[in-house]
Amino acid sequence: MNPFTVTVLGNGSAVPTSFQNPSAQLVTYGSKRFLVDCGEGTQMRMIDFKTGHRHLNHIFISHLHGDHFFGLIGLLNTLHLYGRKQPLNIYAPEDLKQVIEIQLEVSKSNLSYSLLFHNLGQNFSEPLYTDKNLEVFHFSLKHRIPTFGFIFKEKLGDRKLKRSFIDEFNPSIEQMHVVKSGADYEAEDGRRISNMEVTNDPYPPRSYAYCSDTAYFEKVIPFIQGVDLLYHEATFDNEQEQKAMDKFHSTAAQAALIAKKAHAGKLMLGHFSARFKEKDHLLAEAKEVFPATILSEEGKTYEV
Ligand SMILES: [Zn+2]
Repeated sequence: MNPFTVTVLGNGSAVPTSFQNPSAQLVTYGSKRFLVDCGEGTQMRMIDFKTGHRHLNHIFISHLHGDHFFGLIGLLNTLHLYGRKQPLNIYAPEDLKQVIEIQLEVSKSNLSYSLLFHNLGQNFSEPLYTDKNLEVFHFSLKHRIPTFGFIFKEKLGDRKLKRSFIDEFNPSIEQMHVVKSGADYEAEDGRRISNMEVTNDPYPPRSYAYCSDTAYFEKVIPFIQGVDLLYHEATFDNEQEQKAMDKFHSTAAQAALIAKKAHAGKLMLGHFSARFKEKDHLLAEAKEVFPATILSEEGKTYEV
């Protein structure tokens, strides 16, 4: 199985504190790196946590509140200083292109690589990104400005060869590829052996969803149904449910209810308000609704 992980770089909300940083995380699949949101100082967190930047070719920005993208211009400039050559893809609401271009223009910065902007529109059925193993889709969240969640979905892998098949028939590499793709095996003596006899099912594909920032919003559920790991914002606690609604954010318990209704495997809470240095009560409130909940921690890497 390819490594599939999420490293939390920042899990705080907009008001700065000394104990947490604004939103950013790095999703790793195999050797590939995907940055999700880029709050102020993200590049410093990447240095602190030694994430590297060489295999980073895709950045996803959920929305244009500053705590989700103010770190971008700094990171882009640093990649230029490092002499980056390969193009960098940025998936974001439309206005980001203008914001970045004006910053580059007034600072007379001529990047050593090209930026490819992809507008996050309303077509949610087409993947934003796809390769041999992975697809990334977006979907709408409910916030004060247009905001999107992302889901990273592993594709169904090849069928797995049974050891007994290899021992008995000693197939060539080419024959193994054919059988892994689902075809029957044709033995040298002309016998046809059904694929089911010589292979096991592939690993179930894994998935990771990112939902920040959003009010409680059940329309996300069809997009994240059965997700293995769900990151959902939990800016407020139960006492502040009205405030959460007014500000288009969620409580920890509301995040848990979304995880429960979507049959998520695990819920990771984040986007914590600056008022909660201690977050144990957020965890307790969420666990009452959805026991498989954890608090995200900056600098930690989580398996999907
Ligand atoms: Zn935010």
